[in-house]
Amino acid sequence: MANNIYAKLKAVVGSERVSALPEDRIAASYDASKLQNLPDVVVKPKTTQEVSAILKIANETDTSVYPRGAATSVTGSAVPTRDGIVIDLSLMNRIVEINPANLTAVVEPGVVVADLQKEAESRGLFYPPDPASAEFCTLGGNIATNAGGLRCIKYGTTKDYVIALEAVLAGGEIINTGRATLKHSVGYDLTRLLLGSEGTLGIVTGITLRLIPKPAAQTTYFVFYKDETPAIQLSMDLLAKGILPRALEFMDAASLRAVRNYQKDFDMPDMAGSGLLIELDGEPADLTKQRSQTEEIIKGSNPIMMMQADNKDEIDKLWAIRKALSPALYSITDKKTSEDICLPRDKILPILGVLKTIENKYHIPVATFGHLGDGNLHVNFLVSTPAHQAELEPAVDELFRSVIGLGGALSGEHGIGLTKSKYLPLEVGPVEMALMNQVKTAFDPKGIMNPGKIFPVLIHHKNTKDTKTP
Ligand SMILES: Cc1cc2nc3c(=O)[nH]c(=O)nc-3n(C[C@H](O)[C@H](O)[C@H](O)COP(=O)(O)OP(=O)(O)OC[C@H]3O[C@@H](n4cnc5c(N)ncnc54)[C@H](O)[C@@H]3O)c2cc1C
Repeated sequence: MANNIYAKLKAVVGSERVSALPEDRIAASYDASKLQNLPDVVVKPKTTQEVSAILKIANETDTSVYPRGAATSVTGSAVPTRDGIVIDLSLMNRIVEINPANLTAVVEPGVVVADLQKEAESRGLFYPPDPASAEFCTLGGNIATNAGGLRCIKYGTTKDYVIALEAVLAGGEIINTGRATLKHSVGYDLTRLLLGSEGTLGIVTGITLRLIPKPAAQTTYFVFYKDETPAIQLSMDLLAKGILPRALEFMDAASLRAVRNYQKDFDMPDMAGSGLLIELDGEPADLTKQRSQTEEIIKGSNPIMMMQADNKDEIDKLWAIRKALSPALYSITDKKTSEDICLPRDKILPILGVLKTIENKYHIPVATFGHLGDGNLHVNFLVSTPAHQAELEPAVDELFRSVIGLGGALSGEHGIGLTKSKYLPLEVGPVEMALMNQVKTAFDPKGIMNPGKIFPVLIHHKNTKDTKTP
């Protein structure tokens, strides 16, 4: 990168918040996907005006930019693909306002999700989207990936809570989409367009969110079965009988085994073939009714063990089993990959059958868990040998083709990023792809915004340097 670009960035943010030091470039070169590529420079703006000035510099000099929140992306969406500027939004981390009358919050993009959740809950309010990474990930990142999480079945995903955005486009223009109103029917919905755009259309600098009253009480169950079918059936029976849990988290036998081996003091049966965490919430009287219906349905499903908790400490102990999953699987192999397929709920059993076929055919151990209520499964290929590595691509290819064949989606919440971009045409047809390309060009004519993400081929980039795919 030319020295004059560095000098211009320094003039915008001062020497403390721009760096081309190797240690800062390395720290900004990867995300949770473990893909890696060095940027030229890292800049940490504190205001929308600074973001705008940085993008003007980038646009005028045909320099790529990579917005970055907490880098918990598991698809490589925060990884630079070639030279350019990482724009780290973590210093824009103010909760600007919580408005109890309107049930809204205004936040900057670098606010950590759990910080907003805690702040809202301290005022009797509730921000329901709850990615398992909530303690680390940012609201800007959640918007750019349209993050889901553990409570979507009842409360929806990030998109259901974002009512207005401020964003900076590639040329430095500052736009405002939506209003701080609960209803809005004015032209095209640019807010929704930015949701899930993975930093390819603009940088989100201001966020207005809808909050709801905090549910008064909750109760949590962990139910274990000999195999998978009764867990899947139970989830459908609950919904069919009018019970809408706020969480329905599934773990298959391999996931339960991993957690048991990782943390031996968990109270779990030795030979369980599946586990289902069910959480209900509501007003006490309503919860009592939901509980008795739920327990009757659970008893009829012949579990090998059921645990139930009402108070926070006991509830946390049940969630600890689910939350130990990610470290437990990493302790088996740090080369594991995690897919994020989403299916209509009645296609969960068929896809679990497909996964067994894939596991036997390609000889890669698979552990599957996920948000069963949303039909969203995280399929972990536990790659640990060169033979596994060689078979990974055909295995993933077969999985995605089966998912699309069953009417499902390539991603429920993690997005496409780098790791899934080549599979995009499996789901998105040529006409829809052309429309998406036109939208991209309208927002970012030079293609400087997070190039290489989402789309299988780089489009409209005048930068003549080769793309370095990590
Ligand atoms: C252990 C673990 C558990 C997880 N659990 C879940 C889960 O339950 N549900 C779920 O949905 N995801 C989950 N994730 C994935 C990840 O946490 C989410 O994708 C999250 O939304 C990323 O937020 P971030 O702040 O880390 O963003 P980053 O990883 O830094 O960036 C993600 C994308 O957002 C863009 N971006 C970041 N900030 C902005 C901005 N201000 N404007 C424009 N673009 C921006 C980046 O360019 C990139 O494309 C998990 C990840 C891990 C490691």
